Amino acid sequence: MIKTETTLKNFVNGDWVNSTSTEYESVPNPATGEEIAKVPLSSKEDVDLAVKAAKEAYKTWKKTPVPKRARILFKYHQLLMDHYEELAELITKENGKCYDDAYGEVLRGIECVEFAAGAPSLMMGDVLPDIATDMESAMYRYPVGVVGGITPFNFPMMVPCWMFPLAIACGNTFILKPSERTPMLAQRLVELFMEAGLPKGVLNLVHGAHDVVNGLLEHKDVNAISFVGSQPVAEYVYKTGAQYGKRVQALAGAKNHSIVLGDCDMEKTIEGIISGAFGSAGQRCMATSVVVVTEDIADELIAKLIEAADQLVLGDGCDKSVNLGPVIRMSHLDKVHQAIEEGLSEGANLVRDGRQDVKELGLVGYFLGATIFDQVTTDMTIWKNEIFAPVLSIIRVKDLTEAIEVTNESDFGNGSVLYTSSGAAVRQYREDIEVGMLGVNVNVPAPMAFFPFSGWKNSFYGDLHANGKDGVNFYTRRKMMTSRWS
Ligand code: NAD
Repeated sequence: MIKTETTLKNFVNGDWVNSTSTEYESVPNPATGEEIAKVPLSSKEDVDLAVKAAKEAYKTWKKTPVPKRARILFKYHQLLMDHYEELAELITKENGKCYDDAYGEVLRGIECVEFAAGAPSLMMGDVLPDIATDMESAMYRYPVGVVGGITPFNFPMMVPCWMFPLAIACGNTFILKPSERTPMLAQRLVELFMEAGLPKGVLNLVHGAHDVVNGLLEHKDVNAISFVGSQPVAEYVYKTGAQYGKRVQALAGAKNHSIVLGDCDMEKTIEGIISGAFGSAGQRCMATSVVVVTEDIADELIAKLIEAADQLVLGDGCDKSVNLGPVIRMSHLDKVHQAIEEGLSEGANLVRDGRQDVKELGLVGYFLGATIFDQVTTDMTIWKNEIFAPVLSIIRVKDLTEAIEVTNESDFGNGSVLYTSSGAAVRQYREDIEVGMLGVNVNVPAPMAFFPFSGWKNSFYGDLHANGKDGVNFYTRRKMMTSRWS
């Protein structure tokens, strides 16, 4: 079971070491409020120690044959499978998401390792033997060096797995800075990778918050930064990283619109929206936060959504009958309550108030039941801002063209779904929507590890996205060689 100690340590050069900082933050189980760990808020000195170890390890790791690196990934994959339930339970305990969501997340993480284990093929270059008379041109791929990874609380396994398995398979060494709100699963991921035979110094972990992030951004020996988190921090990380001459990919916040047309399959649409909006307590960057529905079916859809939301079981996600867990912290819940009040004062119609569910059940954690606003408009803050909780806004429109216009007005462009049975509508939607990850009749259109996670607009800062071939390009740099042999 969980080996992790309650007072957490950093992992540097193959050893668990105390942070040099004396500042610690409490990590509560969001379903109960009970403290489950204390996480150090490490310093720039801690970052420096980890970077030194990673830089040293890079000298040999980059020259380790790619198939040998891949074999460690295969072993890691097996260990993750062997510890599947343990990992899912730990995600539920520190993040609060219900067990089924956590179970799904473990698989999403494992798929990243599967993709990364293909490094011998992914790392191949290109050659053209006859670029001119007696001349050839060849492209070779190399790692970029020391990579820093900064991750959010909402996917403690999947998001770190977007980063370090592929970066390491490509020959880089890595420093992970997990969210200080979900630091325990990250420790387990590191422990299992070491058990798989990863040499010391290749993967390091430094716990903490902004000091660690700034330490990585400013460090001269860190070559690239992968970031996933909220929009303001993503923008800051991208700009600061660029200022320090680093390659940066920064995946940011979202406000995802699901468009529902009159010709949809109503039952499946309800199922999809309930899962998209309230799964993981709405704390997904691909969560359905707005439903844009045509007037002809709006009343029917909303009545059925309320009926389905009434069936959700709110509670501690460790109980396998629960399908709506808590949000991450009380401070976050306070902000969500504030957003609900703002929605009311702006004139939106609160047709399901999830605050009542909590009162009725007498829950002690950071809970909110499924909350639904009708008659939302694009001048309201509940439409503009990411709420990141089980709060759904509904906008009524006359047709698909207006629904696309509403969606495109958003500053974000992460995900969107269209519920319809019309091929022509799908074509119009695909061509005109300004969003990077589209779904047709699917709950959450998150691409799997083999494709890039392609947010647009303020949902992404950089050029090369996480995962897929973009991920390989991000974690490698190329040499072009042109030769004449006559
Ligand atoms: P967050 O921005 O608060 O934290 C993300 C990381 O940044 C953490 O490791 C945190 O320690 C660090 N950080 C926070 N504030 C900082 C600051 N001022 N300076 C430097 N570093 C700082 O995000 P979160 O609340 O942990 O995660 C939820 C957010 O992440 C949501 O906005 C969600 O949409 C987004 N997200 C996006 C994607 C995507 O693929 N686009 C995926 C998952 C989550």
